[in-house]
Amino acid sequence: MKSIQYGNKHFIRVDKGEEIVSILTKFCKNKLIHLGKISAIGAANEVEIGIFDSITKEYKSKIIKGTFEILSIAGNISSGEDKPYLHLHITLSDSDYRAFGGHLNKAMVSATCEVIIEEYEGNMERYFDENMGLNLFKL
Ligand code: ZN
Repeated sequence: MKSIQYGNKHFIRVDKGEEIVSILTKFCKNKLIHLGKISAIGAANEVEIGIFDSITKEYKSKIIKGTFEILSIAGNISSGEDKPYLHLHITLSDSDYRAFGGHLNKAMVSATCEVIIEEYEGNMERYFDENMGLNLFKL
């Protein structure tokens, strides 16, 4: 992975064989980014995506292997227990050009992934909401 910063924006190239979520979490930790927005495009060959079931209050997840375009990763950076908390969603397309996606747990890069992180001033903590069973923005 390589990165460059212009003002409050970080341009990151995640390389073949690297895992996107762990790379970006480590990047935010190293650069002390507590609040921000993430967007990315690229290609992946193994992803773990999830969906939150609001009835059982649990995430179901699935590992999928294949040839995928990363049409979009969208998400935010907030703070959780002194660490950056990344909440990311992904849309992929398969070899039949069909799109699907979900909550992003892991994605292995098969060619490249081009990420832009926009860093903001301020702080956004999260709290665990018992009713929802989710870590929500603490506003
Ligand atoms: Zn999510």
